[in-house]
Amino acid sequence: MPKLDEPGRLTKVYLHLDRLIENLKLLQQQVGERPLWPCIKANAYGHGAELVAHHLYRQGYKTFCVADVGEAIALLESGLEATFIVLSATLSEHIPALVRYRCEPVICTHDMIDELADEAERRGQRIAVHIKVDTGMGRVGIHPERLPEFVKHCRSRPALHLRGIMSHFACADETDKTFSYRQIEVFNAAITGTECGNSVIRHMANSAAIFDLPGAGFDICRPGIAIYGLRPSQDIINPAVERLKPVLEWKTRIVYLKEVTAGTGLSYGRTFITQRPSLIATVPVGYGDGFSRCLSNNVDLLIGGRRCPQVGRITMDMCMVDVTELRGAVEIGDEAVIIGEQGGLEISADELAEKLGTINYEIVTAISQRSPRIVVA
Ligand SMILES: *Cc1c(COP(=O)(O)O)cnc(C)c1O
Repeated sequence: MPKLDEPGRLTKVYLHLDRLIENLKLLQQQVGERPLWPCIKANAYGHGAELVAHHLYRQGYKTFCVADVGEAIALLESGLEATFIVLSATLSEHIPALVRYRCEPVICTHDMIDELADEAERRGQRIAVHIKVDTGMGRVGIHPERLPEFVKHCRSRPALHLRGIMSHFACADETDKTFSYRQIEVFNAAITGTECGNSVIRHMANSAAIFDLPGAGFDICRPGIAIYGLRPSQDIINPAVERLKPVLEWKTRIVYLKEVTAGTGLSYGRTFITQRPSLIATVPVGYGDGFSRCLSNNVDLLIGGRRCPQVGRITMDMCMVDVTELRGAVEIGDEAVIIGEQGGLEISADELAEKLGTINYEIVTAISQRSPRIVVA
């Protein structure tokens, strides 16, 4: 049996990697000489971690932020010889892998310091770590006043290399920056009150901070969403954000076309009843691909250079689109754009996010592994 390209999937994610690099250049302009550690967690925000990371590595980015050690291992085993900062808190059971794969974990407990040091000693290795300080996010991280004691503890274990001290913003993407400035102050005060030496890398800025909080740059920045050409929010003040270009397009193809009479119910629950004789296209994308069922009857796809309304419940593998306006100008096999451009029109991840009451981050991250990621540029 001949093997089909991309197991026969008609719904694909198309990556404009040239835009990824342009977005990084734009971010680099904002931060000057500081290095950037791109965040490629969650399959590079749904874009495809392997393709994104290898491309960035070839462009000179050698350190990446991931969520957990498993994400790092997958990339290392794909042949990427990069350094990985593991952002989420880890458990004892992750320690052998962290040390063996030379990942750089974020630490926020004394037990972790000892257990990592013990394992590194056993293996005759050193492991680089980053202490995470909670300056207002309220997630993982030590209380700022405990930084001196944590630094001292790290320093007491020669198998540990205290490489960084970091923090994370809770609302850098909001118009009111009062709380963010307070977080910067808390971070600064914690570091100033601690003997950590000049060699320790201080890092705090996410994408929103890179655009709107120049005082948050410290030594290195950790951009995520913006490298993919998406805005951290609609409230970013810095006009440079307008120059971001979305890296990802998500497209499918029409697999079926059918004329139906007025009064025909479509899909589960018959939530859409045609009001006129209609031409209905079926496309092979559904919630199994990350196209949320909550968008049913409330979203458009681009077909034949027009916005065409999705009709009836979105099912697991398929959904329907009303293409009556395209009668005579649409065929089975035609392209249908879920996110992206066609004929001068665009549907953005932001548009879907707004309809779902969520953020663009969740829209792109939700695109499932089922859609092959294809590099177009
Ligand atoms: C995800 C993440 C980032 C990147 O955030 P963006 O808003 O996507 O730029 C930076 N730092 C930490 C700790 C993160 O978890």
